[in-house]
Amino acid sequence: MDRALKIGILEGDDIGLEVVPEAIKVMRAAAQKAGLPMEWFPMPIGRKALDQLGYTLPPGTLEKLDTLDGWVLGPIGHQAYPRDRPNAINPHPILRKHYDLFANIRPAKSLPGLPALYKDVDLVIVRENNEGFPPDRNTYLGNGEFRPTPEMTISIRLVTREGSRKVARAAFELARTRPRKKVTAVHKDTVFKLGCGMFAEECRKVAQDYPDVTLDEVMVDTFGMKLVMRPQQFDVVVTTNTFGDILSDVAAGLVGGLGLAPALSAGPERAMAQATHGSAPDIAGRNIANPYAMIMSGQMLFAWLGHKHGEPRAVEAAEVMARAMENVIQAGRALTPDLGGKATTVAMGDAVAAEVVKLAP
Ligand code: ATP
Repeated sequence: MDRALKIGILEGDDIGLEVVPEAIKVMRAAAQKAGLPMEWFPMPIGRKALDQLGYTLPPGTLEKLDTLDGWVLGPIGHQAYPRDRPNAINPHPILRKHYDLFANIRPAKSLPGLPALYKDVDLVIVRENNEGFPPDRNTYLGNGEFRPTPEMTISIRLVTREGSRKVARAAFELARTRPRKKVTAVHKDTVFKLGCGMFAEECRKVAQDYPDVTLDEVMVDTFGMKLVMRPQQFDVVVTTNTFGDILSDVAAGLVGGLGLAPALSAGPERAMAQATHGSAPDIAGRNIANPYAMIMSGQMLFAWLGHKHGEPRAVEAAEVMARAMENVIQAGRALTPDLGGKATTVAMGDAVAAEVVKLAP
């Protein structure tokens, strides 16, 4: 790449205001270490933008993002937005749909040195991101939940061949880069014969293009049990939206909790780093949120951009971030309270950034 990588910084709400700056701090240090030229673009979003500019997604945001390679988005606390302000919308679905961020990639990996239910988990859940049950994702306009009578609610779920095919392909591509080369498709086509049936059919078709990767299928209820009892058997897991949402939180719980669950939403052209966790208003403003998930979401963005643009320095920046984080965790230094330590959010970010600088080139 003969130009600087352009990344947006959208802090989001609540602990987003605390963890995103730490992610950017570490990303800046890693880019510098790898000699990767960068341009950063802080952009207002969420409650702060509503208070300052009158919009949670200010006009011009998409036009600006169009000019960028990717961005870091903090969690959005839309539940607390004032209901009586029409401009207080949840910006997240708009970004996801506008940029066709169809694959939500959520790794769950045991980290040596941290208390967790399992010490040897290394799986990635690839969740379809723009369809499924969530009512903001299953219609073009409006909301996909209906209440025909006060006593009855109908929720619709969207599954398309194209959406299923795209997320399946993303899972197989990922599996190909991993040693075990295994994809598990999670669904329940025995009951949801059309919706899950279509998803499963597309997974099987895509599998034919990847003879080096094995495909296995597990019903979602059985998978829930297997995930809790023997998560080590899974490598890459591909599933529909709501199943993936639930199962990825379970997977995070197996390896130490939501503070350790990074994620990337990826599309054909751009990707968005956004941790699995929400805005955690219960701990916001106290400088105790774990920045790991947000920092490692930024790490995933660097890796994705490096592969997408054939930019080895971005891949190197991602590797440097991963190594630095591993060192800090293994040494038990600067751990936040959810990991059993006493460090602040800023202290953990500082420690990882300092470790990046210290690493041998
Ligand atoms: P959403 O529906 O937006 O995903 P949620 O309802 O799942 O949000 P979170 O905001 O993710 O809720 O918080 C769930 C719990 O996990 C809370 O107790 C919160 O404090 C904790 N938590 C979430 N993120 C972190 C973090 N980075 N560090 C420490 N604790 C966290």
